[in-house]
Amino acid sequence: MAKRDYYDVLGVNKSADKEEIKKAYRKLALKHHPDKNKGDKSSEEKFKEASEAYHVLSDEKRKANYDQFGHAAFQGAGGQGGFSNFDFSSSFSDIFEDVFGDFGFGRQSRGGRSRNRGNDLRYDISINLNDAFIGTEKKVNYTTYKKCKTCSGSGAKPGSKPSACSYCGGQGRVRSSQGFFTIQQTCPECGGEGQKITNPCGNCNGMGKQQSNENVAVKIPQGVDDGTRIRLAGKGEAGSKGGSNGDLYLFISVEPHNIFKRSEENLYYELPISFTDAALGSTVEVPSIDGKKTKIKIPSGTQSGKQLRLKGKGMPVLKRNIYGDLYIRIITEVPTSLTKRQKELLIEFKTLEDTKSNPLIKSFFEKAKKFWNKS
Ligand SMILES: [Zn+2]
Ligand SMILES: [Zn+2]
Repeated sequence: MAKRDYYDVLGVNKSADKEEIKKAYRKLALKHHPDKNKGDKSSEEKFKEASEAYHVLSDEKRKANYDQFGHAAFQGAGGQGGFSNFDFSSSFSDIFEDVFGDFGFGRQSRGGRSRNRGNDLRYDISINLNDAFIGTEKKVNYTTYKKCKTCSGSGAKPGSKPSACSYCGGQGRVRSSQGFFTIQQTCPECGGEGQKITNPCGNCNGMGKQQSNENVAVKIPQGVDDGTRIRLAGKGEAGSKGGSNGDLYLFISVEPHNIFKRSEENLYYELPISFTDAALGSTVEVPSIDGKKTKIKIPSGTQSGKQLRLKGKGMPVLKRNIYGDLYIRIITEVPTSLTKRQKELLIEFKTLEDTKSNPLIKSFFEKAKKFWNKS
C-alpha cells in the first residue's frame, strides 16, 4: 500500500507552522486514540499514521528531510518502504508528553515505559575487526541496581506493609476537569506510587533496590560495525515498586585495522606494487580478512589506481548470511634510493623509451600543444 503524504495525514498545508501541526495532530490523536476505540483496527492504524506523521513534521530536521526527499528520506538500507527509523513504542511516549503534557490516558498502558521502570544502562565495548568478522563473546562487568533481597523490592521493612496514600486513595493519580477533558495528574503526595512507606526497609532505606555487581557474557554477532548497539532487555537497573527492569545497551566500537579499511560491509586497501611488476605483469599473494592468502594476477601494463574486486571477501552483513567485497586499489611505487647499477640500467632504458609505450603522456602533450598554440 502506498504511504500517504504526511501533510495529508494531518490535514495541514505544507506551509503550516509548528503550532498548527501540533493542533492537527492533537485533534486526530484524541479522535483515534486506542483507549477510546478499543478493538477498532482502523482507528489504531489512523492513530499510528498520525503519530508517525507528527513525529516527522514536528522536528525541523526530519521535516526538512521529508520536504526534500519525501518518504524516501527515512528508508534506511534494507528498508522496503517502511519507516525504518520510527520505533513507534519508544517515540510514542515522547510525542505524547510533548503534545499532551501529563494527560493521563495512554501512558500507563505503555507497560514497560512506566515511571517505575528501572534506568537503562550503557556499556561501551571495543573490539577489533577480526572479532567483528568472526563474531565473539565478551564478558561484561558492570554495577547496577537490583531488587533489594531483604524487602523483595517493596521498600518496606519485612513484616510491615506500605500504607495506601490518603491523598489519592491509592490510585497514584488525581483527576480534575478542564473544559471537555478530565485531566489526570500524578498524585503530588505519593509521586504516583499510590502508597507510602511508613516503615522503610533498613537494607535499602526504602528504595527497594540495592547496588550489585553483575557479570554477563555477551555474544557479539559477526558483522557488527562501529556504532552498533546491542540491547540486553531487562539487564539494566531494577524498577521500583514492581516496575520492570531497564535495559543494558552495549555500544560497540570497532578499532581501526592496520591493513583493512571498512565501509559498511566492504573492505578496502591499497596494494603497492613495483613499477617493474606493473609494466611486466606479475602474480601477488594478498591478505584477506579471513586470514587467508589470495593470489591475484597483475596484468602487464597495470596503471596505478586500478581497482580490483574480490567478491565475497568483505565483512559479513549483520543477521544476514551474505558478505561484502574486498576492493584492492593498486598503487605503483616509484623506486627510491637506487644503486649505481640500477641507475645505469634505467638510464639505458630511458634512451629506448618510445611514445608508443606511453600513450597517456603522448596524448596529454598533444592536447597541451594545441592549447598553447591557440592562446
Ligand atoms: Zn529493601
Ligand atoms: Zn497519592
